[in-house]
Amino acid sequence: MKKEERIFSSPVGMKDILPEEGFIRQTIEDKAKEIFQIYGYSPISTPILEDSGLFNRSLGKYTEIVTKQMFLVKQQKQTFCLRPEATSAIVRAYLENNLHKISSFLKLYYIGPMFRAERPQKGRLRQFYHIGVEALGSNSPFLDVEIISLANRILEEFKISGFQIKINSLGCFNDRSKLKKILELRLKDKLKKLCLDCKKRYRTNVFRILDCKNEECKEVTKNLNLSHEEYLCDSCLEHWTVVKRNLDSLNIKYLISLELVRGLDYYTQTVFEISHPDLGAQDALGAGGRYDRLISELGGPELGAVGFAFGVERLLLAINPKPQLDGQVKVFIVVLGEEAKKKGFALLHKLRYEGVSCDMDYEEKSLKGQMRRANDLKVKLVALLGDNELKKQTVTLKDMASGSQEEISLQGFSEEIKKRL
Ligand code: AMP
Repeated sequence: MKKEERIFSSPVGMKDILPEEGFIRQTIEDKAKEIFQIYGYSPISTPILEDSGLFNRSLGKYTEIVTKQMFLVKQQKQTFCLRPEATSAIVRAYLENNLHKISSFLKLYYIGPMFRAERPQKGRLRQFYHIGVEALGSNSPFLDVEIISLANRILEEFKISGFQIKINSLGCFNDRSKLKKILELRLKDKLKKLCLDCKKRYRTNVFRILDCKNEECKEVTKNLNLSHEEYLCDSCLEHWTVVKRNLDSLNIKYLISLELVRGLDYYTQTVFEISHPDLGAQDALGAGGRYDRLISELGGPELGAVGFAFGVERLLLAINPKPQLDGQVKVFIVVLGEEAKKKGFALLHKLRYEGVSCDMDYEEKSLKGQMRRANDLKVKLVALLGDNELKKQTVTLKDMASGSQEEISLQGFSEEIKKRL
């Protein structure tokens, strides 16, 4: 029978993460986790599959994610979807596991893949990763400031500069309805100028018109003359003032943008987005905001919450220079002959137990071949074992930077190595 010749590829918009990028991602994740801990956030992880109804309810049935971008998985009578975002899933987990009863206030972080069936382009994938936080159970504007300053801090730690934080307030549920009416009214006689999608959005999700990237739509939305005073109630105006004042006091630079609405139904009051000029058309590094109605919308008590998510692939585009993979392995053991191989293998095992990153070659390569591999790995030390060394119970150590060589005793080998690293 003829062997099948088809070569498989990964699904469109979903890519393999190879070691070099994997290492950079690991560095990003480790750094982010360190900062989350400093700010008092604990890890949470939810399943990749969720009941698709969860997102219909939380994001809004007319949002782009729900109408066009969900990967659905039908299993007997149930329809699941590959999660397009984590906030709704975390609120689901928070309620299902009664976390709100254990502690009325909880700060969580997560890192993991999200799935949206979008048209792939630079910085836009169908499987991408979020690093995000959710702080659940508080209405304090100080929490909004904490979340924005945490996002700012993470970018600073990654040495990303030139980003811009845009903020806005949508107000409470009633204010949002007021804003919706204002938008409908001011856009009514400009509908002709809007793109086809926005004409539809006018009826289904008018807020999304403000997110449209079409130049003519942008021209229209730029001139809507919105002001917070016309739709924010006294309490939301006060919340907004406290947020701005405290961002100022922390010296966090931001730009107020009344056109920033975020398309999802669950956002209330503060919303923000962080963009970077080097990213091209998909310029948002991350985004977030307050979602005071989501917990009750999903069956829980009336509790406020704030969160954000960074897109890891966008962070990767913005981080320059990138952390380097080189030099992970510190010691390479070069062996000549069968006896030396056995001894070298035992030394490798011992060194690894002592926490030293080391490696050797199992392929019977020549001395030159083994040295080349040591060079490629950019190790600090090469430990050479041949017949001579075995006879004298020694190892020849070569410092790869200086080229200097010395003989050390096999006894106390790992201590001597550790001294030189
Ligand atoms: P969102 O949940 O849409 O607010 O997304 C938060 C962040 O995730 C965005 O600011 C992007 O950095 C990133 N992101 C969203 N969608 C994609 C995608 N399709 N591909 C890559 N990154 C994405």
